[in-house]
Amino acid sequence: MRPLYTARLDRKLLLSASAQCYHLEFCIDALARFDFEAGQFLSFVAPDAQGKEQTRAYSIASAPDANRFALCVNRVENGFFSNLLCDLAEGDTLACHGPHGTFVLREPLTHSLCIATGTGIAPMRGFAQALFPATSEDRSGGKDFFLVYGTRYAGDVYYQDYFEDLAARYPNFHYVATLSRAEASWTGAQGYVQEHAARLLATFAAGHAAPPTSPDAPAAPPDPAAAAFEMHAYVCGLNQMVSASRERLKALGWHRKQIIFERYD
Ligand SMILES: Cc1cc2nc3c(=O)[nH]c(=O)nc-3n(C[C@H](O)[C@H](O)[C@H](O)COP(=O)(O)OP(=O)(O)OC[C@H]3O[C@@H](n4cnc5c(N)ncnc54)[C@H](O)[C@@H]3O)c2cc1C
Repeated sequence: MRPLYTARLDRKLLLSASAQCYHLEFCIDALARFDFEAGQFLSFVAPDAQGKEQTRAYSIASAPDANRFALCVNRVENGFFSNLLCDLAEGDTLACHGPHGTFVLREPLTHSLCIATGTGIAPMRGFAQALFPATSEDRSGGKDFFLVYGTRYAGDVYYQDYFEDLAARYPNFHYVATLSRAEASWTGAQGYVQEHAARLLATFAAGHAAPPTSPDAPAAPPDPAAAAFEMHAYVCGLNQMVSASRERLKALGWHRKQIIFERYD
């Protein structure tokens, strides 16, 4: 039988008041170490008002760290489990099992394109922590790591400071946050994540274009499909965005096996 753990909420941070999104840090006190791979999810279990057992999946929003893990959860209107999690107070406990899932970085590590919307940023934070750890050396192997994150408003760009800091410190970490309902004051990207991903890929491909065969010959044109050959894409969020991103990448010549995805609905 799979073990059921008791997770204790150790720290709770409001990431966005408008989106009612929380960063929740848990400890499993019974374990010295809780092993998982960045990107995996846990299944949380609790009885509802009728006493019926409910189970919901939540991506781990951190890299392995002793017996700790983090979640990024937003309230869903009238939703049972999201509100239960968001209403927890520090010190409260909840049952969970896992880790589960195959939404993990593929080995050997390749250049990677990560596309997320909303709380789909959770596993991406885990990937980033695993590849660019705060207290030990860079594990990215020099591979380029592109993160394209879409949300509605500027106030819902979860973990913005963390990702901007990584982008400032590591030349191979690239971060674009794009808004679908930008306020006039927003000077950053706007529109669909998949379009920004395609634009980044074209730029990346240009940098990887085959050199000209002779000094007089023109450089080969950028070929996003050729650049994509040695990449993986990791896409996480609601189904509509995941499907649109997969279709966009396939249209650019990506093979379906290069596109790893996690759907939240
Ligand atoms: C592998 C996996 C990982 C996930 N990771 C996360 C995560 O890291 N953070 C996170 O916040 N959520 C995550 N989810 C979604 C989560 O499991 C729940 O579906 C979500 O919290 C809603 O559950 P609920 O019990 O509150 O709503 P329910 O009581 O199940 O549903 C209430 C209503 O909300 C709708 N609904 C259900 N899910 C969603 C949703 N995700 N968004 C909008 N409306 C919805 C339902 O159709 C229903 O009408 C993940 C889902 C999967 C499958």
